[in-house]
Amino acid sequence: MAEFTMDLNDDQKQVRDWLHGFAKDVIRPAAAEWDEREETPWPVIQEAAKVGIYSLDFYAQQFFDPTGLGIPVAMEELFWGDAGIALSIVGTGLAAVGVLANGTEEQIGTWIPQMYGDVTDVKVAAFCSSEPDAGSDVASMRTKAVYDEAKDEWVLNGTKTWATNGGIANVHVVVAVVDPELGSKGHASFIVPPNTPGLTQGQKFKKHGIRASHTAEVVLEDVRVPGHCLLGGKEKLDERLARSREKAKAGGGERVKNAAMATFEASRPAVGAMAVGTARAAYDYALDYAKTREQFGRPIIDNQGIAFQLADMRTQIDAARLLVWRASWMATTGKKFESAEGSMSKLYASETAKKVTGQAIQILGGNGYTREYPVERMHRDAAIYTIFEGTSEIQRLVIARTLSGMPIR
Ligand SMILES: Cc1cc2nc3c(=O)[nH]c(=O)nc-3n(C[C@H](O)[C@H](O)[C@H](O)COP(=O)(O)OP(=O)(O)OC[C@H]3O[C@@H](n4cnc5c(N)ncnc54)[C@H](O)[C@@H]3O)c2cc1C
Repeated sequence: MAEFTMDLNDDQKQVRDWLHGFAKDVIRPAAAEWDEREETPWPVIQEAAKVGIYSLDFYAQQFFDPTGLGIPVAMEELFWGDAGIALSIVGTGLAAVGVLANGTEEQIGTWIPQMYGDVTDVKVAAFCSSEPDAGSDVASMRTKAVYDEAKDEWVLNGTKTWATNGGIANVHVVVAVVDPELGSKGHASFIVPPNTPGLTQGQKFKKHGIRASHTAEVVLEDVRVPGHCLLGGKEKLDERLARSREKAKAGGGERVKNAAMATFEASRPAVGAMAVGTARAAYDYALDYAKTREQFGRPIIDNQGIAFQLADMRTQIDAARLLVWRASWMATTGKKFESAEGSMSKLYASETAKKVTGQAIQILGGNGYTREYPVERMHRDAAIYTIFEGTSEIQRLVIARTLSGMPIR
């Protein structure tokens, strides 16, 4: 088992520098344009595919790095370039991980390549869990999946919302209720293959930030998918449901509900790393600006009022990265999050990104408030990190419950 270390090995350094180069030379220069266009940056995704960054191989290599640092290092660099474009590049990976984690080998081999497409015809994938009435409260999900035994098909009905790449994805992974009595334990995930009738895109959201990333409703009307599209297979689902029913009978109802909030615990450090990338981008920009902008005959960084802000920004970014790396290392090496370390990392990194990008605007003065300078966009982008993959309030709830053992509401 890998010991925790902050020393990246030579391979990791090489990957980090390669990604940084792509972020600096390809992503950052395209950021303002795609933010204004509010469209998926297909040409940039294609560039990423050409060099091997937009691929399952790359994602899996980072995911299975035994030190746990592969994913956080990659996320930080790509999101340093631009959050909206980077989310368009890694959004498919989030759906792919859903299949890697729950799918059979055959499902992984069949569907993940279709999520990415190929260099000449890149595709994206979407992970659809949230619903209009089931955001933080995942257990109140209503989208239903009913098994049609005669045809060996599942029939999906419901409305998903906030789906990154929803409606434009080649492959959608949809979470649906198969047993409403069991809360989130009665959910299962399904692949909806390309061009399946009944799946349509609803409203596309016009957002505050990460505007290069497509976010939309996904409407499912009598969507029929073959039995083999149930991730993990029917036998495994039936066993899991039977176990959950036994537990619920034995009075495990509250535990069933609490488990919903812990579901994404392991993926949260990755979102923390995205936030660290955005925060570092704004800090880097503000530091350079403060050294060159002169007022009262000297650079503004000569004032403690500015220099101390930068000192605090950098300290908080480094602290956030440490929490993210610790949580990623724990998750990869199979250490239990006894103190909700995954949630801690996401909470602190996302709040840091919001704060630091706001300070960067202040340091740039009037320029910081315009779209001519990137910190304004970074501040809008940073606001997403305290919302998706569990809001800051939900992270605090998970941490407080874990630490106290009390059913805090
Ligand atoms: C740009 C974007 C992309 C997204 N991508 C995806 C995606 O790809 N797939 C997907 O499935 N979902 C996605 N989401 C959905 C995201 O995960 C949800 O928005 C998030 O979980 C919050 O749910 P909600 O918006 O319904 O807010 P609500 O749950 O309605 O929360 C509203 C407010 O109430 C607070 N609150 C709720 N419950 C409690 C409580 N018990 N205690 C204290 N405070 C509470 C929240 O913290 C928040 O401040 C995305 C969202 C956005 C904005």
